[in-house]
Amino acid sequence: MRTLDTLGSLDGKTVLARLDLNVPLDGTTITDDGRVRASLNTIRELRSRGARVVAMSHLGRPQGAPEERFSLRPVAARLSELLETPVAFATDTVGSDARAQLAQLPADGVLLLENLRFNPGETSADEAERRAFAAQLAEQGDVVVSDGFGVVHREQASVTDLERLLPSAAGLLVEQELDVLERLTRRPEHPFAVVLGGSKVSDKLGVIAHLIERVDTILVGGGMVFTFLAAQGHAVGASLLEEDQLETCRGYLAEAERRGVRIVLPTDIVVAEAFAADAAHEVVAAEAIESSAFGASGLGLDIGPESAAAFAAIIRESKTVFWNGPMGVFEMAAFAGGTRAVAEALTQTAGFSVVGGGDSAAAVRALGFADEQFGHISTGGGASLEFLEGNALPGLEVLGWA
Ligand code: ADP
Ligand code: MG
Repeated sequence: MRTLDTLGSLDGKTVLARLDLNVPLDGTTITDDGRVRASLNTIRELRSRGARVVAMSHLGRPQGAPEERFSLRPVAARLSELLETPVAFATDTVGSDARAQLAQLPADGVLLLENLRFNPGETSADEAERRAFAAQLAEQGDVVVSDGFGVVHREQASVTDLERLLPSAAGLLVEQELDVLERLTRRPEHPFAVVLGGSKVSDKLGVIAHLIERVDTILVGGGMVFTFLAAQGHAVGASLLEEDQLETCRGYLAEAERRGVRIVLPTDIVVAEAFAADAAHEVVAAEAIESSAFGASGLGLDIGPESAAAFAAIIRESKTVFWNGPMGVFEMAAFAGGTRAVAEALTQTAGFSVVGGGDSAAAVRALGFADEQFGHISTGGGASLEFLEGNALPGLEVLGWA
């Protein structure tokens, strides 16, 4: 894969830097600036090599037209604070303001363009439309540095098409993220435990198929639990359930047994009357979810304390741990216990711990843990899962990744 050093001298050049500055916002307040901080090294490195930096990113999922609530303007302000240097902001991507700001940008200046997804070409399924947008972006710089790790699994104008039009290379964050993922797939220290949770069950099952060949233990929490429990024949009330994945889950359980890999399911579950922060709730055995006071309408919203303690013990004894997906609805205090216990155990293990996934990273920070307590917090959930599944990532392939 081409890295910054392959670009030659950047002195006096304008570098288009595709970053992932897709931060969670509450109004115009950034609630977790992890992705902005993760982008700083590359920006600093480019400036120290004498380049002007035109930073580009998406934010949220606007539908190809400007929408104030998805504006990157608050990110420009935060970037400026963290870099301790002025960051100019263009209110468009390839329009008159971008051109005007670019014309004024000093030799070591930093400019952030408005949300790339305000332009329909960014995510278009039509290659010609994507390429036309990429060509307009390409006119605004000399080389492109791809450092938006969270989007490298996407075929998008700024992620793949632009990289084909200009000399391109991976940035420092992409390099670092790949180092970590390679350490997990190529030479993990054992015992190796993977903790999976969250709500996107079918998205994450695929990773089990790939990891089952290299891990010792798979701990299952979050919304995925119920499809596994149902696959074992247990009733799960009104909990998250993907009926069409039951067979897949049965297949994984059988394969794990054959290979001597442990798939550990929770033994107790926090069942709630409703999906609400103040809902009545109680802890019941995982095989008897409908035995709670709420019967068949009860919802499993967290793993129970016995399971949390068992998961934590396994994590603490592991030499390598990869965690993706909260153990429960951590956004509500009553259902955050499992996620907190797992996060805490990750900070206590002497092994190498990796947290992947946007919500998982937000959860550890929201629960008061510091980034430094973990081996690595990945900025890319989908991208790291796709990598671990062994899938080709188009945004890396254009950079010469093989
Ligand atoms: P990540 O972004 O880390 O990959 P996901 O997006 O897959 O994680 O899932 C995060 C969401 O999963 C959280 O908002 C959390 O509330 C939800 N979740 C976790 N457990 C459950 C559950 N038992 N039922 C419903 N939602 C759950
Ligand atoms: Mg998520």
